[in-house]
Amino acid sequence: MVRLAGWITRRRDHGKLVFLDLRDASGMVQVTCHATTTKDAWTTAQEVRPEYVLRVEGKVAARPKAMVNPKLPTGEIEILATRIEILSPAAELPFPLEETAKVGEEIRLRYRYLDLRSSRMQRNIKTRDRFLTQLRRELHACGFVEIETPILTRSTPEGARDYLVPSRQRPGSFYALPQSPQQYKQLLMVAGFERYFQLARCFRDEDLRADRQPEFTQLDIEMSFVTQEDILSLTERVLYRACKAQKWQLPKPPWPRLSYATVMKRYGTEQPDLRKEKKKPYPLEPLFITDFPLFEGKEGKYWQPSHHMFTAPRPEDIPLLKTNPSKVRSLQHDLVINGVEVGGGSVRIAEAGLQREIFQLVGISAREAEEKFGHLLRAFTFGVPPHGGIALGIERLLQLGLGEKSIREVIAFPKNHIGVDPMMGTPAPVNPQQLRELGLRLASFRKVRNKKKKPR
Ligand code: ASP
Repeated sequence: MVRLAGWITRRRDHGKLVFLDLRDASGMVQVTCHATTTKDAWTTAQEVRPEYVLRVEGKVAARPKAMVNPKLPTGEIEILATRIEILSPAAELPFPLEETAKVGEEIRLRYRYLDLRSSRMQRNIKTRDRFLTQLRRELHACGFVEIETPILTRSTPEGARDYLVPSRQRPGSFYALPQSPQQYKQLLMVAGFERYFQLARCFRDEDLRADRQPEFTQLDIEMSFVTQEDILSLTERVLYRACKAQKWQLPKPPWPRLSYATVMKRYGTEQPDLRKEKKKPYPLEPLFITDFPLFEGKEGKYWQPSHHMFTAPRPEDIPLLKTNPSKVRSLQHDLVINGVEVGGGSVRIAEAGLQREIFQLVGISAREAEEKFGHLLRAFTFGVPPHGGIALGIERLLQLGLGEKSIREVIAFPKNHIGVDPMMGTPAPVNPQQLRELGLRLASFRKVRNKKKKPR
């Protein structure tokens, strides 16, 4: 006798014989109820509808030869039910659970807990778990330490807008959600950990596009006493093994490394797609790009960093900072796979004087530098190892590996294209008492809107 529990995917009624496809997290099995030999079960089976939750007792039997389903791992057997108990009925579904790629995204997100029942989403979310586990395993094997850094932090300048969290205890002051753990990971190098990683949640308040989410996960890495080449070879080794473990096809390291100038000349884009046949997702074709210009251009009087302002210039180009900043190349590196930027990082500035010089060029005054980055500049006076790192976008890697169209397909509970979670109704107003405690008052939206519309 076996006892199984799960959801009903399908019910097929042949009169005297009812077949139920019973599904749980581990797979699917066919349950057979017969009007004469197993009358009790057969009677209950009359009421059963898709997505009912049942407990089934019965015997495992070999299926008759003609009924064997070679497509199913359990296709050679069936459960002859002796007893069926309905644990929970299910209302009619808002959409069918297979082929969900064709269903409107809004409704899928509103009923995400149903959408996640589909075999595709089960596969995606379980692959995500296995991929992250493998990355962790590989990094631990290379002597890395996983360290969590704060979510409530201070604004990090990574080029996007911060999400702010008002402080109740210090009215008028705000935490910021991290755009990345950049400064913390550098401080962990000063702290002597040498090899850090984190599956870090990052928050950026940007205008959303197909491949963006307000929050996403990075494999964040930082290493001490390394060259740029050390960072790249570690990255390709770890990533190659984690991808191979998912049976994704990709070339063995070393992967190609091209300078920014070569890439722009050869492909005319920073994100070239090296695949020969671009319609198929496989194989994954990775490429490292190096030697980026330190600054991507000038805005008014000030220079805009190509990566971020902690990125080191190439040592031989440092004199050009004074004479011709546009010609300074950096120790930044990007990883592009199939035309998608999946990661980026750099060797860092590890000297307070040089860091101050860069702050000045990007328009941060000495006073502002002290106020916002005093901790980092001070840390650099206490013995700082040369260090650098990289961050890889987990969702983009999974999207590519699984051949999905959007990163939302590899996140259990994503936001939609305008940053809304239609299931929870996030974001949502809060009650006036909560605002009062925080010392906040809302400006009327109408007023704000009217103000904007006024002719200048
Ligand atoms: N913090 C950087 C980013 O999020 C990555 C890095 O420089 O390691 O893009």
